[in-house]
Amino acid sequence: MNDKALCRSCGSQDLEIFYEVGDVPAHSVLLMPTRDTAVSYPRGDIALAFCSNCGFIANVAFDPCLLEYSQQYEETQGFSPTYGAFARRLAAHLISRYDLHDRDIIEIGCGKGEFLALLCEIGGNRGVGFDPSYVEGRLNGATRHPVTFIKDYYSEKYADYHADFFCCRMTLEHIQNVDEFVGIVRRAIGQRKDTTIFFQVPNVSRILRDLAFWDIYYEHCSYFSVGSLARLFARHAFDVLDVWTDYDDQYLMLEAVPGCATSAEEQRDDILDLARDVITFQRNCPAKISKWKEQLRSIRESHQRAVIWGSGSKAVAFLTTLRVERAIGYVVDINPHRHGTFLAGTGELIVPPSFLKEYRPDVVIIMNAVYRDEIGKALDELDLSPRILTL
Ligand SMILES: [Zn+2]
Repeated sequence: MNDKALCRSCGSQDLEIFYEVGDVPAHSVLLMPTRDTAVSYPRGDIALAFCSNCGFIANVAFDPCLLEYSQQYEETQGFSPTYGAFARRLAAHLISRYDLHDRDIIEIGCGKGEFLALLCEIGGNRGVGFDPSYVEGRLNGATRHPVTFIKDYYSEKYADYHADFFCCRMTLEHIQNVDEFVGIVRRAIGQRKDTTIFFQVPNVSRILRDLAFWDIYYEHCSYFSVGSLARLFARHAFDVLDVWTDYDDQYLMLEAVPGCATSAEEQRDDILDLARDVITFQRNCPAKISKWKEQLRSIRESHQRAVIWGSGSKAVAFLTTLRVERAIGYVVDINPHRHGTFLAGTGELIVPPSFLKEYRPDVVIIMNAVYRDEIGKALDELDLSPRILTL
């Protein structure tokens, strides 16, 4: 690590690297049209460092120049009924808690716009979504309420777009200068004290405790716990109303309003717990990686047909960390936009579930336990009963 590396959340120098993976694909959900593009895609290194001052965890080897968030960025999880139900439940919660009716909503990093459309549809609101990877015509049916999309990163230059509610889901973890970014949002809100913000990010405490090495990938350069997320917003004069976990503890959600209190910094002090989790992860993760390597080698050596279910970033991180070649035949995904493309890094072809009818896999490795029932049902419908392994 560069001696001068500073925590991008609190500015402290108290950073300690505890996990490294070299040479991983810079992007994991960008659509790769050929196997060659997939395996030769630009790579970078991961060196996760823990800040013992504020609890923030970051990839200090991250180089933002390697990333491109174009329309080829295919991140949506909206094709999963499990995820769809979660998104609807979350939208209904936010609408009811903050009385979001006939309001202006900004979503930063809105992806293909599904969640913003949901907030506008259910609550009768007006929305503006920012995302360079937005694609026109992907929303099913026009929403009855006005939603505008701006194909750009949200920045200072959009500070004159006012909103009653700011929403930012699964975006902050892609941003390197998190302190600067939260500052931009805070300045955009200015003195409008009746504005509410909602942020959703992966929960690093769960990643550390579950030794979930598949949840650490290049696109995610910033990792938060309940405490480190609350402290970042408190430092920018937000009063944090609530921080909670959802989706099997995988996501962290923060609700806040502009305030003045930095005293909230003292709340949710989880730094000692985090430091302990970091040490446990550092100590036990290598054995977990070895165990999975063994599993994949044994699948390959016994000539079993194995597929991975879920072609998102977890699959890329799982396979590029393990580096066991020729163990996995295909990667299955229910998102039709990904079919016929290739997994970044290792180059497996992404196929629809119906492909398995003929391929008849012996083993299916599920990338997220949350989808275990949904995938089990799909396999039943295909009349298949492979051995199922779940991360
Ligand atoms: Zn820090």
